[in-house]
Amino acid sequence: MSMADNWYPVIDYDKCTGCLTCANFCPHGVYDTSGEKPRVVKPEDCVEFCRGCQRICPTGAINYFGDS
Ligand code: SF4
Ligand code: SF4
Repeated sequence: MSMADNWYPVIDYDKCTGCLTCANFCPHGVYDTSGEKPRVVKPEDCVEFCRGCQRICPTGAINYFGDS
């Protein structure tokens, strides 16, 4: 598995409800949860081609930089 500078989640805040399911699921500390909605603060620690948080997001709010 490789950590990626060219693959990380991008949240559509119009769809995001702030449930934090994504942040609680990810074991790599990519998200900060101190605010009302999660923020991507460690994109370089996201695992390339992992789609775990996208799969688990109940509102389809997560896409990836680097996805084509
Ligand atoms: S799982 Fe989806 S809706 Fe919930 S906080 Fe994350 S991006 Fe937002
Ligand atoms: S894609 Fe995987 S590693 Fe990256 S933030 Fe989501 S759950 Fe974490």
